[in-house]
Amino acid sequence: MEDKPVSLHQLFCYALSAQVDLGIGEMILKAKNNRPHDLQWTENIKMVRKVETTPDLFGAPSQAPSTPQFDSLAAHFEAIRDCQLCPLWQTRTKLVYGVGNPHADLIFIGEAPGREEDQQGEPFVGRAGQLFDRILAAMGLSREEVYIANILKCRPPNNRDPVPEEMDKCYPHLQEQIRLLRPKLICALGRVAGQRLLNTNTPLGKLRRIWHDYEGMPMLVTYHPAALLRFPAYKKETWADMQMLKERYDRLEL
Ligand code: SF4
Repeated sequence: MEDKPVSLHQLFCYALSAQVDLGIGEMILKAKNNRPHDLQWTENIKMVRKVETTPDLFGAPSQAPSTPQFDSLAAHFEAIRDCQLCPLWQTRTKLVYGVGNPHADLIFIGEAPGREEDQQGEPFVGRAGQLFDRILAAMGLSREEVYIANILKCRPPNNRDPVPEEMDKCYPHLQEQIRLLRPKLICALGRVAGQRLLNTNTPLGKLRRIWHDYEGMPMLVTYHPAALLRFPAYKKETWADMQMLKERYDRLEL
């Protein structure tokens, strides 16, 4: 994710998104007049309500094949590296496939590449990536032991949220990666990844702290490292999630 100054309006949007993540469905604020910034706030309040009332973002679960269609991650990458299935190919610098141990027991799945990821072709670089590395290190892990990928393989302009049509087009790429990796544990980083993988619009606050089943694999959902940069108070909760994840990961070794 990008490291750049944020405006007061962006901060307000982040705060509203955080309320949604925590499961708060409605805020009542009255605009005193029709000044432009009051109108912007009113629109964002509507956005909070919309997330809570949308019945189902993604429809029925897709019927993915149960066995991989490719022999290896490298072969799959070669097949999709010039993907043009959605319009994001037009603005990408590099397709960000994924990185890590092809035999990893644990896979982390984020949302989409940011500016630096788009430039380097690797997920979770930049400030959020550095924080993610520190979280891994605190767990006694490294990038070489796990695998990291995103829901989307190309950067949405201005780091906006992925739209459902883009995720629908790109999701089969991730499904094939997961089939090839066959991890024993999955950790979704952030609301977008958690909701897409679990095919739900449940707020992040209600997805955390419990084990989910992703096609027979245990899956945990926690905050995205970029959210921790904006809201350091989430670090404590994220660490609790990571301890839960590590405890189960350690049991895999038994
Ligand atoms: S985001 Fe995914 S579906 Fe869209 S062009 Fe990139 S790889 Fe293809």
